[in-house]
Formats: sequence, C-alpha cells, structure tokens
Amino acid sequence: GPVLGIESSCDETAAAVLAPDGAVLAEAVFSQTEDHARFGGVVPELAARAHLLHLPGLVAGVMGRAGLLPRDLGGVAATSGPGLIGGLIVGASYGKGIAMANGLPFVAVNHLEAHALTPRLPGLLPGGAAFPYLLLLLSGGHCQCVAVEGLGRYRRLGTTLDDAVGEAFDKAAKLLGLPWPGGPHLERLAKEGDASRVPLPRPLLGRQGCDFSFSGLKTAVAQAVAKGTAAPADIAAAFQASVAAVVADRARHALAMAPGATALVVSGGVAANSAVREALACVAAGAGLPLVAPPVRLCTDNAVMVAWAGIERLRAGLTDPWDHAPRPRWPLDELAAP
Ligand code: ATP
Ligand code: MG
Ligand code: FE
Repeated sequence: GPVLGIESSCDETAAAVLAPDGAVLAEAVFSQTEDHARFGGVVPELAARAHLLHLPGLVAGVMGRAGLLPRDLGGVAATSGPGLIGGLIVGASYGKGIAMANGLPFVAVNHLEAHALTPRLPGLLPGGAAFPYLLLLLSGGHCQCVAVEGLGRYRRLGTTLDDAVGEAFDKAAKLLGLPWPGGPHLERLAKEGDASRVPLPRPLLGRQGCDFSFSGLKTAVAQAVAKGTAAPADIAAAFQASVAAVVADRARHALAMAPGATALVVSGGVAANSAVREALACVAAGAGLPLVAPPVRLCTDNAVMVAWAGIERLRAGLTDPWDHAPRPRWPLDELAAP
C-alpha cells in the first residue's frame, strides 16, 4: 500500500503520501521561516511547538487528498534524525502512533539519506539515478560530498571544516543587511553586481580532497563591508562567484574520489542558486556525466523524499522498532543496509 512520510527535523513541517511505485498522491509543506525570521535563525523550542501545532492538520490534509484512510497505508516513514531533537520527537512519535494504531510497519528515516535518495524518485530522471552516484548536499545545516553506493551505503568523501554553505550565504547576507534566510536575497542582489570589483578568497580551491571551508570568506566579506568602498551588490556578486568556484572545484575532486559514479547530484536549499548550478553543470559536462538537480521543492526539506526513503527501505525489508529513539546526530555512515 501507499506510504505516509513525515518531516520535522528543522523548520519545515511536511507530510506526503506516495504510491508504492513512488507516484506522489499528495504532499504538503508548512515552512516556519516567518516564525523564526525575527530571531534571525531557527529557535528550536519554537520549532518543536510549531511542528506539534501543524503536523496533525498536514497529515489529515494529505490523507484526505489522497483519498486514503490510515488502514489503507502500507507503512509510515518519519524523519528520526539528524536534526533538532524537539521536532524529531514530535514527527517520529506522531508517525509511530499512526503506524502502531493501524498495524503498519514504521521506518525511522535518516534525513540525509532522504536527501541522498531523492534523485531515485521515479519521473525525475529517465530510469531514475542508478547507484553509484556522487551527491553534493548543500544546505543550511549540511555541506558534504557523499558517494552513494547503494541503499544504506554511503561514503562521506568530504565535509565542511566550519560553516555549511547555506549558513555562509545567510551570514554574508546578514553582513550585507539582507533579511534571514539570506541566500535567495543575496542571489537577487548579486545579479546587479560585478564580481570582478571585489577580490575575495576562494578557500581550499585546488587543495587535495573535497572538504569545504567558508569562515575565511565570511571574514573577508565582513572586512569589505566595513571598509565601505565597495557597492553591496558587487560584494554579493563576488561572494557568490567565490562560493560557486569553490563548490565546482570540490565537486571535481569528489568525482575523482568516486570512480564509477553515473551522475553528479546536487541537493539542499543552495541547489536553488543558479550560479552554483551553472558551475556544477560545467563540472558534470567535463566529466561526461549528467547533472541531476531535483526541482527546488524537492531540494529543500520536504516529506516526499522521506516517504520515498521509506518505500526504498520497506522494499528491502528494513523497518524499525517502536523504541527507535530519534537521533539529533546521525551520520550517514551509521545506517542499516540490506
Ligand atoms: P537542513 O540542512 O537540515 O536540510 P535547512 O533548512 O537549513 O536544513 P534547506 O531548507 O535545504 O536547509 O536550505 C536552506 C538554506 O538554503 C538556507 O541557508 C538558504 O539561505 C539557502 N538558500 C536557499 N535558496 C538559495 C539561493 N537561491 N541561493 C543561495 N542559498 C540559498
Ligand atoms: Mg529549512
Ligand atoms: Fe534538509
């Protein structure tokens, strides 16, 4: 039967129902961004309470639109880590409740695995992304290069030594006086600027491996802003050009560390950035691989990817016990594999 997915690891409350073949029967996302904007970032306790407030209505909504009763489901999948523990407890407990009351299997989904398996959703790619492929996860909380070798089999090739790339966008945007979350605002401002007018560093570019570092770039932006001679749009353009160049360089190195990869996949909120996408398209073309960039609504946090990860795990016979505890930290290399 169809699978209900629940996402509540950060500041998006989301629910979705997918048919066993991956067709999306109904989906809904409630973004709490506005609730947190006046604090300049996600407030964990507020987020947990908002998940509790919105989740029942979202689940009822998708079930209604899919025309299903809980007993028609084949399973329930809920994000159970990594993320903010309050939200994880809300979503995982709600999902377990529905599963337990209706005699359904429960899948405790790793949020990073859900991002990693998104390109395998039927309909995104002809035939779906086949293992192995290289994933660049570029979001507000994560910044990693991962070799996706099979279900539950992930090799982290590189990660950030300090800030995640979305976090770097948000911090640079804040320095430029833009509202939080600043990534999309910074991209808009950068369109009016000239990157060549402000020299900014490109951290780790050309270095061995595929780790990232953004704190030095952020400091350079702070210094350029404080100096007061460069136009904000030029600083924004230079920052974005620097990030795109670094991400492309890291991706090139990561591909060399993932022989046999059939595609370069980019996911996370920063995958919405057109400069980053263009730079990665170049890298993929250079390696003779397709660049898979799911539509933005599937790159940012959503429940379609959670339900899909649930479907893949149920197919492989992998379910989780009722006492599975949500994990605020849950690295990709600690997952169960078939
Ligand atoms: P997680 O890391 O757990 O997935 P998150 O909510 O921080 O959590 P996303 O929702 O995937 O991550 O992405 C949000 C991030 O993406 C923010 O940092 C935001 O600024 C950034 N972002 C969104 N659109 C753009 C854009 N057009 N350009 C640059 N950054 C962007
Ligand atoms: Mg978010
Ligand atoms: Fe995410």
